[in-house]
Amino acid sequence: MDEKIGFIGLGIMGTGMAHNLLQAGFDLTVWNRTAARMEPLVQAGARAANSPADLAALCDVIVVCVSDTPDVEEVLFGPQGASEGLQKGALVIDCSTISPIQTQAFARKLAEKGAHMLDAPVSGGSEGAARGTLAIMVGGQAEQFERARPVLEAMGQAITHVGGHGAGQMVKLVNQILVANSMLALGEAFLFAQAGGLDLEKTLRAVEGGAAGSWTLSNRGPQLIERDWRPGFAIDLQQKDLRLILEAADELGVPVLGSSTAFHLYRVLQTRGLGGEGNHALVKALEYLAGVEVEAKAEGGG
Ligand code: NAP
Repeated sequence: MDEKIGFIGLGIMGTGMAHNLLQAGFDLTVWNRTAARMEPLVQAGARAANSPADLAALCDVIVVCVSDTPDVEEVLFGPQGASEGLQKGALVIDCSTISPIQTQAFARKLAEKGAHMLDAPVSGGSEGAARGTLAIMVGGQAEQFERARPVLEAMGQAITHVGGHGAGQMVKLVNQILVANSMLALGEAFLFAQAGGLDLEKTLRAVEGGAAGSWTLSNRGPQLIERDWRPGFAIDLQQKDLRLILEAADELGVPVLGSSTAFHLYRVLQTRGLGGEGNHALVKALEYLAGVEVEAKAEGGG
């Protein structure tokens, strides 16, 4: 593809994604608020822009991967934001996880400037970003999705056009409802097993091959039993996504009881300074309530 690509937001996810665009042979310009984070990309062959507006003036397709809704708004529409430099017909691909409703407003504002937008949030963690194996759920016009396909294929594997503007973000929130409720079920199940005096490893082996088996159970269950709280996905980021779910559900008038419970349990952990731990640490909030802790049986026990 001949189009020139820009990348805004070189955090944990964006750095790997931008490297994969370079490796796929794209002409790449990058911008990051903290300038030092651009260095490795420049070393690898990218051009550094002075601002999002400067980047937009040089690029046909602009990928954004920043933290939250106000951050996307700032890099697109703030002072020196990308919208100040946009070329006519440019395409903005937003890979951040943000509000679906605000996404629709951003798409309208960009359309007023003669530009297009796709929401393209990702799933697969820093490993998926580095390896180019992300799942990408895309909302926006079908012809812009086809235009973006080579860019998305350089960063991900399972790439699905799911509907119009905001639909990608909605599907990402569906993904996060499933993840958060799985974590709640995981914690509740193993706390119950602990209180019942069961061998947790044998319990895990006994149930994971049946109807209750899941990615969460097989990947985070062993970590939980070992009390290994290192994050695949941190509580603070999980909490941002739960907040987006609660806001969208409120707008839609849909009850989200499980996600709401998970939100409040994670809030307990954040107030105790545990926001940097993995989202499977949700069990700790249940432990505080129950006065029981999950723990693997000592070797030879059970
Ligand atoms: P991160 O490592 O914290 O990086 C955030 C990036 O956003 C940094 O480049 C940061 O710039 C930039 N940024 C934040 N606020 C900004 C603002 N107001 N103006 C300009 N730049 C701003 O986060 P991440 O893990 O890469 O996540 C990025 C997005 O992907 C989030 O929406 C997240 O939910 C989503 N996501 C993450 C994962 C994961 O496992 N990590 C998985 C799927 C989706 P500075 O360098 O200057 O701070």
